[in-house]
Amino acid sequence: MTKDLEKIAKDRGIKYFLISFTDLFGTQRSKLVPAEAITAMAKNGAGFAGFATWLDMTPADADMFVIPDPESLIQLPWKKEVGWFAGNPWMDSKEVEHAPRNVLRRLIAEAADQGLEMKSGVECEFFLISPNGEGISDPGDLQSKPCYDQSALMRRYDVISEICDSMLELGWRPYQNDHEDANGQFEMNWEYDTVLVTADRHSFFKYMVKSIAEKHGLRATFMPKPFSNLTGNGCHSHVSLWKYGKNVFSDDKGELGVSKLGYQFLAGILANAEAMTALTNPTVNSYKRINGTVTLSGATWSPNTISYTGNNRTHMVRIPEEGRFELRLADGAANPYLLQAAVLAAGLDGIKHARDPGKRLDINMYTQGHLVEGAKKLPLNLLDALRALEASPLYEAAFGTEFVTAYVKLKTQAWDEYTRHLTKWEVETTLDC
Ligand code: ADP
Ligand code: MG
Ligand code: MG
Ligand code: MG
Ligand code: MG
Repeated sequence: MTKDLEKIAKDRGIKYFLISFTDLFGTQRSKLVPAEAITAMAKNGAGFAGFATWLDMTPADADMFVIPDPESLIQLPWKKEVGWFAGNPWMDSKEVEHAPRNVLRRLIAEAADQGLEMKSGVECEFFLISPNGEGISDPGDLQSKPCYDQSALMRRYDVISEICDSMLELGWRPYQNDHEDANGQFEMNWEYDTVLVTADRHSFFKYMVKSIAEKHGLRATFMPKPFSNLTGNGCHSHVSLWKYGKNVFSDDKGELGVSKLGYQFLAGILANAEAMTALTNPTVNSYKRINGTVTLSGATWSPNTISYTGNNRTHMVRIPEEGRFELRLADGAANPYLLQAAVLAAGLDGIKHARDPGKRLDINMYTQGHLVEGAKKLPLNLLDALRALEASPLYEAAFGTEFVTAYVKLKTQAWDEYTRHLTKWEVETTLDC
């Protein structure tokens, strides 16, 4: 297997390989390895000092080695002489338990033990902004309802088509691109696949969009809420569960074409939503997207309550058609691996306990939500979400104590750093107290 990589490099004209891993904060880290050296690297792993990244390690720890997954190889469409691998971090001869890709792989194995395989498609919204990050890049993109704006989309044709061509070339089966609900915002959709493939593609997609935007003198951001008056960057995740090649969420006789098992899985998502939010909405900024005030376009399109519905975009979970549902909670900062792992763990928990999601709500949750008795709000900020995660028996069991400890510790540090900022708002509202 390792020998093949040198041959693959020769056959495809690859001169260098990026051996990457994704840390707890979703940052992709890599070593650039010449093809001549890939055989040994593929066997022993590329070395990293874990403390230098967002993993819970110390400078005294041993080297961490990232073993590339040969199945994940992607040749950069915009720089063909480079091949990219997603890798699995190891340390002291065992897998690093809290590394996100390892967490997801453990959950996939747990589902496989029950003959189950989760599939997912993600919608990674992003803005094309100016290189200094100060504003959107197109001064003509001014409509208050800019969604699907043909002219604004076509003014970015060179960037969007290069990214879409890349996905076509990589065989991801992209099928549509559009201008989204905020000025400067776009979405590009490709077909769903098994969760590890989707998580690797999600991770690579973010890198690709940023790289191609840069090539065109622009900058791409997936930040959940970069502009307070505009709709934020969501990362809706569509979910189905498969057994022996059959979608077991599908049932002609079920409500909206979803099976009993599908509703149990969905109930698991609802039951664990507060803790899940720490993973799907992982930054201080994330909470300005969910629970947001009405945007310039008239709607935030993001949820603020823990509820589900049919084909209605005002709830946390939407059932757009038979055999799948859409989790609208996650945002552009979500770690691609932890997003899928969080959903899978919660869903399996729902099946295990035969949970019942209750009746769906067929109302406009933005305008009528206050009329629903007992409607549970999503966490209002990162700290509340982290506390829910820390208290969650599910995530402790499914992700491991090492993961929860590491994640809560590093994210709480980020929260503390944020609260130490003296804001303009505080000064303005408190100076004359
Ligand atoms: P919308 O904007 O209506 O929410 P999109 O077309 O932007 O939907 O994205 C839908 C995503 O759902 C795509 O990635 C698609 O491949 C994926 N999808 C479709 N069917 C399934 C399924 N059965 N399981 C998982 N994902 C699915
Ligand atoms: Mg060195
Ligand atoms: Mg979409
Ligand atoms: Mg969208
Ligand atoms: Mg959607």
